[in-house]
Amino acid sequence: MSELRCAIVGAGVLGRTIALALHKAGCTVEIFDPRPDGGASTASRAGGMLAPDSELESAEPIVYELGIEGLDLWRSLSDELGEHGFSIGWVNRGSLIVAHPQDRPQWLELTEKISKRGKNTRYEILHPQSVEPQLDAKISEGLYLPDEAHVSPSDFMRATSGFLLEHDIPWHHVEIHDINSRNHKKTVFKNFDWIIDSRGIGAKNEIKNLRGVRGEAVLVHAPEVCLTRPVRVVHPRYALYIVPRTHQNYYLGATQIESDDESPIAVRSTLEILSAAFAIDPKFAEARILQSMVGIRPAFPDNAPFIRQKGELLQVNGLFRHGFLLAPAVAKRVVKLISNNEKEHRSISLLG
Ligand SMILES: Cc1cc2nc3c(=O)[nH]c(=O)nc-3n(C[C@H](O)[C@H](O)[C@H](O)COP(=O)(O)OP(=O)(O)OC[C@H]3O[C@@H](n4cnc5c(N)ncnc54)[C@H](O)[C@@H]3O)c2cc1C
Repeated sequence: MSELRCAIVGAGVLGRTIALALHKAGCTVEIFDPRPDGGASTASRAGGMLAPDSELESAEPIVYELGIEGLDLWRSLSDELGEHGFSIGWVNRGSLIVAHPQDRPQWLELTEKISKRGKNTRYEILHPQSVEPQLDAKISEGLYLPDEAHVSPSDFMRATSGFLLEHDIPWHHVEIHDINSRNHKKTVFKNFDWIIDSRGIGAKNEIKNLRGVRGEAVLVHAPEVCLTRPVRVVHPRYALYIVPRTHQNYYLGATQIESDDESPIAVRSTLEILSAAFAIDPKFAEARILQSMVGIRPAFPDNAPFIRQKGELLQVNGLFRHGFLLAPAVAKRVVKLISNNEKEHRSISLLG
């Protein structure tokens, strides 16, 4: 593949994993995105959970299949970047799903769904304090999913920017619109064999049926709280998950609202997220709010990822609420397509 030149337009989690995979396969890669720090991406506001088993509750089967594959690929990616001195904050301590006693029926329902739908899912029902000793004693049952993992999105952004820079991958600080225009083909993309459109919601006006789903989250510093793995809380009205970060910081997320409004976090969402965290561990009361975040998840009507090929253009999008989980497996399929080097017009299935 060494003779192939690839332009990657949009460097969120998907564009970056594709860039790394194509570079590894020997292609010449160049990136087009106005923000090398990842600051404009939805990925930079994400929890970074790699949770295919938990997602069995509501996601399409394809998300589980690609997600299970993704767990192994993330481990390798973490090792490979680690060899170059870059950490993505990969932690593989599993995750825990809990509920308050009054919400036990919903927790039982979810537990049953996950255990039935996950072909190879390893799980254990236990006293949550046996894995997270500091969790409030009134939460007496938990579903432990030992294979799940998480990464730190900000570390991932830093690590990948560092690696790409170190390997002299050109980064063009520009926004590209109307990506498939003749004009672009004759100018910016004239020396490229392949153009990969991984602009997430930034491609909304050019990809049919792509919609935005708003997500809000809060980052807090809570030195009194001691959780070492992601904890999800089942609740009839809102979903909360807590993801530990370094330096006793915790990511608390996330809302899911059918809107592409990027305005700051709503008071209602802040109240719900923070009170749900407080109800799980009253020690969150003394936490300090470091940052609130709003990101727009790119999604198609079936909430599943999609690759569409138009000659040398590959539109890769729709990673919805699973961008971290799915990106490496989707990137692997992009590399396979490019290695075949067939310039067709088609939609490509992501399974198999
Ligand atoms: C609150 C929240 C929590 C989440 N938590 C998780 C989680 O725990 N686990 C998980 O797997 N997923 C999670 N997600 C989902 C995940 O963040 C998304 O699925 C993922 O970011 C989509 O990746 P992407 O690379 O397609 O898009 P993005 O991450 O949005 O990246 C798109 C990139 O394209 C660039 N771009 C846009 N327009 C242009 C243009 N015109 N020209 C050039 N460049 C452009 C942007 O600058 C950006 O860098 C979460 C999402 C939210 C909102």
